[in-house]
Amino acid sequence: MRVAVIDYNKCKPEKCGYLCASTCPVNRSGGDPAVEVSEEDNRPRISEPLCIGCGICVKKCPFGAITIVNLPEEVGTPVHQYGPNAFRLYGLPYPRKGKVVGIIGRNGAGKSTAVRILSGIVRPNLGRYDDPPDWDEVIDHFKGTELQAYFERVRDGKVKLSYKPQEIEAIPRMFSGTVRELLSRIDSEKVEDVAERVGIAHILDRQVCKLSGGELQLLAVAAAIMKEADIYFFDEPSSYLDVKQRLRAAQIIRSLAGKGGVMVVEHDLAVLDYLSDGVFIVYGVPGAYGMVSGYKSVREGINQFLDGVLREENMRIREEPVRFEVRPPGDWQGKVLFEYPSLKKDLGGFYLEVEGGAVREGEIIGILGQNGIGKTTFVRMLAGEIEPDEGKVETELKISYKPQYISFPDVPVSQLFMEEGIDLPFFESEVKRQLEIDKIWENSAAELSGGERQRVAVALCLSREADIYLLDEPSAFLDVDQRLTVSKLIKKVVASRKKLGFVVEHDIVMVDYVSDRLIVFSGEPGKRGKASAPLPMREGMNSFLKELGITFRRDPHTGRPRVNKPGSQKDVEQKKSGEYYYTGA
Ligand code: SF4
Ligand code: SF4
Repeated sequence: MRVAVIDYNKCKPEKCGYLCASTCPVNRSGGDPAVEVSEEDNRPRISEPLCIGCGICVKKCPFGAITIVNLPEEVGTPVHQYGPNAFRLYGLPYPRKGKVVGIIGRNGAGKSTAVRILSGIVRPNLGRYDDPPDWDEVIDHFKGTELQAYFERVRDGKVKLSYKPQEIEAIPRMFSGTVRELLSRIDSEKVEDVAERVGIAHILDRQVCKLSGGELQLLAVAAAIMKEADIYFFDEPSSYLDVKQRLRAAQIIRSLAGKGGVMVVEHDLAVLDYLSDGVFIVYGVPGAYGMVSGYKSVREGINQFLDGVLREENMRIREEPVRFEVRPPGDWQGKVLFEYPSLKKDLGGFYLEVEGGAVREGEIIGILGQNGIGKTTFVRMLAGEIEPDEGKVETELKISYKPQYISFPDVPVSQLFMEEGIDLPFFESEVKRQLEIDKIWENSAAELSGGERQRVAVALCLSREADIYLLDEPSAFLDVDQRLTVSKLIKKVVASRKKLGFVVEHDIVMVDYVSDRLIVFSGEPGKRGKASAPLPMREGMNSFLKELGITFRRDPHTGRPRVNKPGSQKDVEQKKSGEYYYTGA
């Protein structure tokens, strides 16, 4: 079965002269054409029954607008298809009473379509976009499954859904006023109580437009939990939050399960694991089609996802399994490439103190700490963007810096890579395809999604010729696969070029995966911060997690870190022995 998808946002026939139609061998053979120009909108349409799947149009399209995929016939009818040559979703995740259901998978593989369907905003059309079925037909389609009763309630208007969206940056554009005013619109009686629980009581009278990313996220979580609903849906509740805030938000979200059902899309595997009772895995080709696995226990589901094999579905979704080191890396050898002295900076109300350190060639230093504790200030002092009050970062070394917040001008992505200092051969061979920049090469950089912006910023940073690579939160907005790709790429760039890297991160799985040593920040957010010298991984993790009071165990199959339940036997034992993270050595 052929799936042919055209991304009409990218398709520009006026610039290419319908190359897809003129180069298609079926069209050229003179029979019924596989690619035709629609009279309705002058856009190309690919006939899936006539297309032979040769892929020539995919290669010829200058804007990367076409995706052709061959699927086995057994996949059956899609649950929903947006239109001709459009994205389609096979299968649906579903809420379970009293449970937190996690959704794990690629960006663009259909999770927002699933949410829109489950919330009743979109009625599934079973692939019949030109002749959509009514509710009775839809319910009949799902007869005998968990979704039958669910859709009966949706049809009768009996499902109330509370939704925490992914795009929290849009909140200040949609609402002007204070945090208190926004929350009062939902339920003025609950404002103080919910703000206290979520940890935003101190910013209730702050203007929404002045909030940081982390504060906006907490506000969005607060707004979602205030509503009385049958199903609570949280789309990426961890973005911008530090480890402590992530686990606190996770506990709050878990506490909602008793009210009905909770569904969570999350790319931080440790948080997803901590939050969920079970998971659905969404896989497929982003932007073209998505498939939903059966419901799996959280441990089994995440392990199958990392193994790359969905056992019950008999489906391979990854070439190589992902594994984690259970033991900390040994002593780092190699010559010192960069040294910095102790630094001090008073930002008026916030005071930062940094212990000096030395970093060796080929080494990556992970940076861990709460939000508002001075990590970005430290990185910007290293990058020469902020002058310390005491101490001076003296280096002739060239620094390539990826900031936390990214914005680009309205130029094609390709133009960004024309800047001086970009190692173009390296970018072409090692970065462009790996970070899927080729797919957005001609898109306007100003109109990229959060994940696309992040990939472009990381690609630019790693493709520059530099000695020190500084990356501030490179995982934000990326899905798990993209996080792993970025981690591998950072390691490869730093190791193969014998340079060094600093990576600020809140995703503990990614920190574990990418770092050789750690700088740990302690102090009081918003008031004072203290950065340690680079510490060995064991010491760094113990120091960071001790302050948070969290211990991790390891999954015996994949080695991935799993948060221990507070007060559990393992938690108590590990705290007693002082081993908060590495238990396998
Ligand atoms: S899909 Fe690509 S090749 Fe076809 S008309 Fe659009 S831009 Fe041109
Ligand atoms: S994949 Fe080949 S046969 Fe199908 S539309 Fe493209 S060029 Fe034509």
